[in-house]
Amino acid sequence: VDNGAADRRPVDEHRPLIIAHRGASGYLPEHTLEAKALAYGQGADYLEQDVVATRDHQLLVLHDIYLERVTDVAALFPDRRRADGHYYVVDFELEAIRQLTVTERRRPDGRAALYPQRFPAETGRFRVVTLAEEIEFIQGLNRSTGRQVGLYPEIKEPQWHAEHGIDLGRLMLEQLASFGYAEEDDPVFVQCFDARELRRIREGLGSRLKLVQLVGRSRLERRGTLRATREYAQVLAPPYSRLVSARSRNAEPRPSVLAVSARQAGLLLHPYTFRREKLPPYAASLEDLLEVFLRDLRMDGVFCDFPDVAARVRDSCGPLPVASEAEGRRSPPTA
Ligand code: CA
Repeated sequence: VDNGAADRRPVDEHRPLIIAHRGASGYLPEHTLEAKALAYGQGADYLEQDVVATRDHQLLVLHDIYLERVTDVAALFPDRRRADGHYYVVDFELEAIRQLTVTERRRPDGRAALYPQRFPAETGRFRVVTLAEEIEFIQGLNRSTGRQVGLYPEIKEPQWHAEHGIDLGRLMLEQLASFGYAEEDDPVFVQCFDARELRRIREGLGSRLKLVQLVGRSRLERRGTLRATREYAQVLAPPYSRLVSARSRNAEPRPSVLAVSARQAGLLLHPYTFRREKLPPYAASLEDLLEVFLRDLRMDGVFCDFPDVAARVRDSCGPLPVASEAEGRRSPPTA
């Protein structure tokens, strides 16, 4: 890999970012260091961290606010189960979390793997990782490889954490700053579904990091909403299905109104989540799907469970010039 290439690339060339969704989670249990190492080696530009906090305010890289779908918590700590059936991270201290083994994600009923073709369930000795450990790991790899792979942390359920006396957003910013990430051009994107929390991060806590507004399937983003989002965030991250117009579902995909409006509002687009196991009618393979979004729809980044595939498709598209204003696109915004 010629690692100097990225630095010599003309600034006006469109080069979408490959964001490893929970690491190379298509191949190894999500959010383990093994999955992050693989994603790093497969050429991801950013590695994603979902961040939650323990009772003793330690930050962990885990997707859920509870533990049972990816660990053996039910076997080790059966009496820590709440009445609703969940084993919540906020009910555990880091010392107990250290004893857990991480496994491939199970279905909600806990009986089988969510993706049966992926890494075999209940296999291996994977561990829960703290955010600090993961940042050290990435910085270590950045040093040994000379590359500059970035962090893409998500503040998970800030309201839930606040109800348990934990200011997750503030703790995350402090931890990032302690590792040297505080400025807009540092290789970090901070993501959250909660718009109030992101606005607080920008305006209340004064963070200069790049912020990403995650949106779900249903929320309606009007043009005014998108302009308001641009006041605090640089990126909009919706499910990819929302960026394709409904009329084109079975024909050549065209950008949706949301895609065009977001661009006009000056937002970059990082859709989620590209995986082999679920494909829309207009794509015969994950490669096809990624080609539509990276080459035809010119996304600025993609969240993918298979970073090697995304990087390969991105590189096979060759250099793409930045689209013109007439196409409803602006230069990357600066805060
Ligand atoms: Ca996430």
